[in-house]
Amino acid sequence: MTPSDFVFRKSNGNIHSKKLAVAQVETPQAAGVFLPIGAYKGGAMSEDDPLRPPLDSRRFFMLPQSPMDSGYYVYGRLHGKPARGAYQYAHPTMMTAILRVALEWQAIDQRRMGVGDISLAGGIRPPDHDTHRTGLEVDVRPLRKDGREQPVSWQDPQYDREGTIKLIELFRTFAPVGKVLFNGPDVPFTTQYPGHDDHFHLKLRG
Ligand SMILES: [Zn+2]
Repeated sequence: MTPSDFVFRKSNGNIHSKKLAVAQVETPQAAGVFLPIGAYKGGAMSEDDPLRPPLDSRRFFMLPQSPMDSGYYVYGRLHGKPARGAYQYAHPTMMTAILRVALEWQAIDQRRMGVGDISLAGGIRPPDHDTHRTGLEVDVRPLRKDGREQPVSWQDPQYDREGTIKLIELFRTFAPVGKVLFNGPDVPFTTQYPGHDDHFHLKLRG
């Protein structure tokens, strides 16, 4: 039914009263498709927007959880279970960096980059790190030659040093990178640090 049908039927009162009753029930508002008009507050992303990602007490958003057509996927566990974004609250500078780098990466490579721990909601101390409290630190997996979205350490034959170098270069081009911790040899701008064989820890300046 088109809106003009509706107006026509409505304006014809009694004759089409039965059809009018059906038409009213079928309006999107009645079907619950749209929120009541009063729920809109004019902004692109109001507090009532059901599609808005979770926001923490610092007003940091959770990283969108791997839209399929994006250049990244998410990984990570918290308290022995998949973290499902609970460990991915990002400072606005970090959010911008990840989304921008993912977009640039997608333009040059079919593989997606693996994004892990950032910070917990409210910046509380994580169980497994002394860091990762500001939303300005992120763990990222090195690239795999086979493109599988799984862990890889620099000692593994699947480790792609060239791809990993390129990814770190993108971060340095599009974000204020302060420090990158990673043990893989011959990767520019990285510093060796225990426990960083299967991910690089990237810290941005706030
Ligand atoms: Zn880290």
